[in-house]
Amino acid sequence: MRTLVLDKGFLPTRIVSWQDAISLLFVGKADVVEEYDAVVRSPSVAMRMPSIVRLRRGASKKPQRIKFSRLNVFLRDGFRCQYCNAEARMSELTYDHVLPRSRGGRTVWENIVTACRPCNAAKADRTPTEAGMPLPRKPFRPTWLPGGGGIRVDDGSVPEAWRSWLA
Ligand SMILES: [Zn+2]
Repeated sequence: MRTLVLDKGFLPTRIVSWQDAISLLFVGKADVVEEYDAVVRSPSVAMRMPSIVRLRRGASKKPQRIKFSRLNVFLRDGFRCQYCNAEARMSELTYDHVLPRSRGGRTVWENIVTACRPCNAAKADRTPTEAGMPLPRKPFRPTWLPGGGGIRVDDGSVPEAWRSWLA
């Protein structure tokens, strides 16, 4: 079991073992944000394992400005086509202008999504509404990216409770 550590400003900073997280709690350097169901017992105490803790001190790092790039768009979208949710390799993905360039759509975080080739071709020069391909979430400028920030997570093993903090 691992614990996600947030800084004072609730930004994910690192991942530690639950033992290290408990040490942070015991010395008063952090507070629990989320717990696992699993309980850890010592002769004198029983407590639930921390899933997420937040540090009490330390200035928040300034949110990084994440460079707009093809790779970073794929990272933001988890290498999934935003229209059909299929996961694909980088070589099989394209990036799609939500509002097509021919209609003045810009190449910015808020107008670009990851798309597989079939979806990209099916959507063509139309908006998602016109194409009948609604987007489950609006594209956004990320403040954090897996592998792009200070911490790396293997997406397959990310505890459910962490997801909203890492998104
Ligand atoms: Zn697709």
